Amino acid sequence: MAVTRTFSIIKPDATRRNLTGAVTKMLEEAGLRVVASKRIRMSREQAEGFYAVHKERPFFADLVAFMISGPVVVQVLEGEDAVKRNRDIMGATNPANADDGTIRKELAESIEANSVHGSDSEENAAIEIAYFFKPDEIVG
Ligand code: GDP
Ligand code: MG
Repeated sequence: MAVTRTFSIIKPDATRRNLTGAVTKMLEEAGLRVVASKRIRMSREQAEGFYAVHKERPFFADLVAFMISGPVVVQVLEGEDAVKRNRDIMGATNPANADDGTIRKELAESIEANSVHGSDSEENAAIEIAYFFKPDEIVG
């Protein structure tokens, strides 16, 4: 399996509870390497653009409000089959349905405040990485 990259966000519920390190430790223990990382506060426009695919969903306005409610940490993760590996360690969207040992089961608060984002395909990973990082900000 090839070494690839994916995009991750440590969401405001996790930064608020000072869990940046705890999340990152779980990502690293799953075999992922943080090759870019920055703490930002997303603008409304940035959050709406990032989640544009969900704009017709009933939870869109709440999701955008949540994502701009506090700092986030955007990261590029590298590893073997990085997209799937990250989705596996994240766990299901709703922490109530997530497997034991996953980030969302162990750390998340709710279906919305679920601590992490992770790209769902290689194609979206490339788009999402480019949305937040310039090539020279990623050091593999
Ligand atoms: P993910 O890929 O597992 O993050 O899930 P989705 O792409 O389906 O949804 C994006 C994000 O929207 C999730 O991570 C949640 O933060 C939020 N979300 C998803 N479903 C719901 C929902 O039913 N209600 C609310 N309030 N938020 C949701
Ligand atoms: Mg998704």
